Amino acid sequence: MTAHGTAAPATGRGRHTAGQFAAVYGAAPTGTWAAPGRVNLIGEHTDYNDGFVMPLALPHTTLAAASARTDGVLRLHSGGADGGIVALRLDELRPWPETASGALETSRGGAQRSGGWAAYPAGVVWAMREAGLPVGGADLHFESTVPTGAGLSSSAALEVVTALALNDLYALGQEPQRLAQLAQRAENAFVGVPCGIMDQTAAACCTEGHALFLDTRDLTRRQVPFDLAGEGLRLLVVDTRVKHELGDGAYAERRAGCERGARALGVPALRDVPYAQLPEALSGLAGDPVVQALVRHIVTENHRVEEVITHLDAGRTRAIGPLLTAGHASLRDDFKISCPELDLAVDSALAAGALGARMTGGGFGGSAIVLVEEADATAVSAAVTEAFAAAGHAAPRIFEAVASAGAHRVE
Ligand code: ADP
Ligand code: MG
Repeated sequence: MTAHGTAAPATGRGRHTAGQFAAVYGAAPTGTWAAPGRVNLIGEHTDYNDGFVMPLALPHTTLAAASARTDGVLRLHSGGADGGIVALRLDELRPWPETASGALETSRGGAQRSGGWAAYPAGVVWAMREAGLPVGGADLHFESTVPTGAGLSSSAALEVVTALALNDLYALGQEPQRLAQLAQRAENAFVGVPCGIMDQTAAACCTEGHALFLDTRDLTRRQVPFDLAGEGLRLLVVDTRVKHELGDGAYAERRAGCERGARALGVPALRDVPYAQLPEALSGLAGDPVVQALVRHIVTENHRVEEVITHLDAGRTRAIGPLLTAGHASLRDDFKISCPELDLAVDSALAAGALGARMTGGGFGGSAIVLVEEADATAVSAAVTEAFAAAGHAAPRIFEAVASAGAHRVE
């Protein structure tokens, strides 16, 4: 639904977005803000188990040009969505699905799914008001280079850029992590997607040249240096173009299975199972092989995050490759959320000499990441593309992930 080329300089895109705002609403915006998409380096499905994650922000961003309004009306428009302006009264905002057939209709009535894309930004305004923040009406126009539905979190970029714009327009003074929590609340309670806190935190808190270590239990964060170019390395993203459906039952099933595992083991969350005690925990779950496998993934994945940090802190970036690959095997075999295209992306990249590769994001499609020597990047990309063609899959979209800035004001 949007162009996904290399990210143009934010100021140029900022001016373009402001120009589009003026064309839609008839006046210049007060400001323009940006929030990035993300890839998760390691730590998959750990975020709803109180565990560890390690995303980095992409150079691809969603921009919002915005102005405050004094009449209690919220107007939303996106260059990436069909339909016109979505106009809503703040005092009538209700969580999905209550709104689905009511107020949340695009002006042409063309919502792509109950509630439509506008539920994401509208949900942020709803969550801010629910939290008692004095946020009023606004006009917003969005332009994005974050691929949608590719596991790169265009939804969190859309939410967080909305939260930051309103935070500034209404001088709310909220910290980035707090804005991320409000954005998550919007996605959980308003849109109806039971996501964890990782994506919104990545969009709000990542910094250039770093991966963000996040402990999802207490929201402790650490910026871990991740300058691949300086080490002659590249991180490629392979968007399989297979649309994932995070809202579907498989995600809820994994979540429920993890909760069942924690209950059976008598811990508040699977994060509380120490890696050293995994064999014991697994033998205690012998009667439930499905939960056993879920537990094995979560406990080993948290351990892999810690190992990746140890290597990065010691400057051994190449050593994280096998950990990424082991993470993929765990998601494929234990968590069972990969798909043929993701497996092929990983296997063909490794066969062509990649240092490590794994699916990233919720699973069942979306994207994989590939760590390669700079000198091998072109050959590995070509090998993956050829493998997809040979298997009869649609051509993947491959681009480089450079650790970029989190949400910020552009103009
Ligand atoms: P992901 O977050 O992995 O990209 P999701 O299914 O969670 O996938 O979110 C994608 C949805 O977010 C889109 O279908 C659309 O409703 C909404 N969205 C994201 N970015 C935009 C945008 N720039 N304009 C309009 N809607 C958007
Ligand atoms: Mg999403």
